[in-house]
Amino acid sequence: MHLKGEGVEKEEADIIKDEVLVASPPASVSPILASDTPAAQRETPKTSVTCRNQSKSRSKLGKDEKNTCTKQDSVPALQGTIVASNANSGKPVNRKNNEQQMLQIKGTGKILQGKTETNGNTVPIHPPEDIKVGPHNKEDANKVAKRRKPVTVDTFKAKTSLEALKLSIRQLKWKEFPVGRRSACDIYWHGVSFHDNDNIISGQVNKFPGMIEMLRKINLTRAVRTMQELFPEEYNFYPRSWILPEEYQLFSTQISLAKDSDVSQKPTFIIKPDGGSQGDGIYLIRDPGDLRVIAGSHNKQSVVQEYIHKPLLIDKLKFDIRLYVLVKSLEPLEIYIAKEGLSRFCTEPYQEPSQKNLSHVFMHLTNYSLNVQSGNFVHSDSLSSGSKRTFSSVLYRLASKGVDIKKVWSDIISLVIKTVIALVPELKVYYQADIPPGKPGPTCFQILGFDILLMKNLKPVLLEVNANPSMRIEHEQEVSPGVFEYVPSPVDEEVKVGVIRDTLRLMDPAQRKSLTSYPEHQQEEMLGSPVRGTGEEGRVLPSMCLKQVFPKYTKQFSYLRIVERITALFLRFLGVKGNMRLGPTGFRTFIRNCKLSNSHFSMATVDILYIDITRRWASMLPDSREAGMGLQAFVEAFFYLAQRRFKSLPLREQVVSLLEVCEAQLENQGRGDPGGALPEDSTSTRRSVSCSRTQPGRTQHPHHMSTSAPGQALSAPQLCSPATPRRASSQDYRLHQRLRPTHKGNVEN
Ligand code: ADP
Repeated sequence: MHLKGEGVEKEEADIIKDEVLVASPPASVSPILASDTPAAQRETPKTSVTCRNQSKSRSKLGKDEKNTCTKQDSVPALQGTIVASNANSGKPVNRKNNEQQMLQIKGTGKILQGKTETNGNTVPIHPPEDIKVGPHNKEDANKVAKRRKPVTVDTFKAKTSLEALKLSIRQLKWKEFPVGRRSACDIYWHGVSFHDNDNIISGQVNKFPGMIEMLRKINLTRAVRTMQELFPEEYNFYPRSWILPEEYQLFSTQISLAKDSDVSQKPTFIIKPDGGSQGDGIYLIRDPGDLRVIAGSHNKQSVVQEYIHKPLLIDKLKFDIRLYVLVKSLEPLEIYIAKEGLSRFCTEPYQEPSQKNLSHVFMHLTNYSLNVQSGNFVHSDSLSSGSKRTFSSVLYRLASKGVDIKKVWSDIISLVIKTVIALVPELKVYYQADIPPGKPGPTCFQILGFDILLMKNLKPVLLEVNANPSMRIEHEQEVSPGVFEYVPSPVDEEVKVGVIRDTLRLMDPAQRKSLTSYPEHQQEEMLGSPVRGTGEEGRVLPSMCLKQVFPKYTKQFSYLRIVERITALFLRFLGVKGNMRLGPTGFRTFIRNCKLSNSHFSMATVDILYIDITRRWASMLPDSREAGMGLQAFVEAFFYLAQRRFKSLPLREQVVSLLEVCEAQLENQGRGDPGGALPEDSTSTRRSVSCSRTQPGRTQHPHHMSTSAPGQALSAPQLCSPATPRRASSQDYRLHQRLRPTHKGNVEN
């Protein structure tokens, strides 16, 4: 069994080939030894970290325990930007013995002279041309700094990201409010959710409403599936998945059929609990029969996924990539990717799955939280060795073996943009429900953690997206038997402080305002330049580690944003009352205003369609509190309507054609009848809905209904279909169709 599209060498790299996000390998992995890493320059583990709870037994440590460490030293001015080296040999130099030294600017290969201050910070003597100081020069910067009030950041709810956040704020010379502030802050940093503090009415919060929900494994799978239905080739980076328990039968049938057709196939599957993280509850199976326990238990929602059994190995070990992605805004969509990420290694040499090794978690799961418990885990102060390394060091290694790392990066960017595009529709619904237009509220941004696996053929595969990626920059170390201490982790600090600091720089309210006066291409350039106005008092900040990829690549990806257009319709008929479900009235109004009903497709039929789809989704989302039609159900209804109306076209074209019909109708009404989209009289709807309830089970599963000829009016659906789970992934659906060749005939109108 193959990952859908495995082996299909679609040259997406061509699309964005001009851009490689990673610093050129020799520079980014230039001779940075432990003593030269920013963390190491600042402090060495035991002398510089003061932990309030210095020693504690592991059992007492909660996952999200608030970080109690404080750091004493100041932050080097050039943190993360410049590494000391001997200009000729490229070897690190001993700072203490070299007051004046050659400095290499990471990522540029440029050398400049500098000297070490007594506090260990390195200051440039002659800034190179591409390191500017302040807005124009140092004097101007000082003036600006004096004029400007520092940006204020409420860190009260920051939780485990606190340490990296504090460092970032200090580097930017902004003002931190560790216990909150009576008046409003510019930025609120939440550790968990948008709702960590519900009293914010202005400023910017680092979480989107609904992101946690959307990134649960089932919802992510559903969102990607919708896109797979429309764009199977483009979304083949996500392993084939089934949602349990509702798709258990489908899963078993498909697997047995695949095995029957090719007896040599012995695929492996990975089972992941819906809300799980850090590898909790994950296990591998080779036979669907092993799922029986879960299938019988309705509260164990999980995703079963094809196991990628040929990952790329380094030193015989499986590893994955954690990449940080900033969603800066939903409307307009703005996405940034961190140029540096982490590679997390397994601690037991990899072997392809067999019945014998299925339970070897240190061989199959790359989670840091699991592998750190293995005796083989290597904590390293180097960024390019050990069980957790920088991604650039891995790329460097691959490049040295002749791998086209530009293509790898470009495929990764593409995966990230497409995934975010899949998530945006539902996020917009959450956003409007929590912050309806006209209601005072903050704007949102969020750093996401993308977990990506490289297959042996270098194709990136999306494993999951974390709404709350760990931003810890220290790790626990057992200092004596049973006694643990937090010590700095240079590799985490190298990556994460940059991500937080540059996110803040991008969210600087003054920056945002001043940037808007520049054309878009210049904004991009300015944000990417080494120093922004926020580098107060002439302080030199490292070049941006976050790189804009959207809207930069709008042209290449905007054709994928079809579901967002359906969402715009959904939101329009939902109204702005803070709910997320469309009632029958709203649905009828949508049909009526878009002129989708006629004598062949009556409003009574519309009601039946509404009830059928809504009921089935309600049974699939057992914990949903709100009644009505959610976005996913609406999208299903829309696909169905499109299929009926534009029968002979591929699904994507059917959907686009229907969108054009709807948008044109609404535009006409917008011109002539501004109130056209208001819900109609609810009593009439209620009447027809209850009418249709007198015929339970007589609705047809939309996917099994036929479509009418292009341009023809919608005709009444056939009745009496079983309410089967809808929209298994597009490939599931196609297989399903193949399995039941007569089915389509049965439902043809
Ligand atoms: P969690 O949120 O619990 O970390 P993940 O989806 O990230 O769950 O899976 C945990 C680990 O399992 C991943 O880091 C990866 O090493 C491995 N893994 C997950 N999905 C697959 C897959 N489809 N194929 C191969 N390995 C996988």
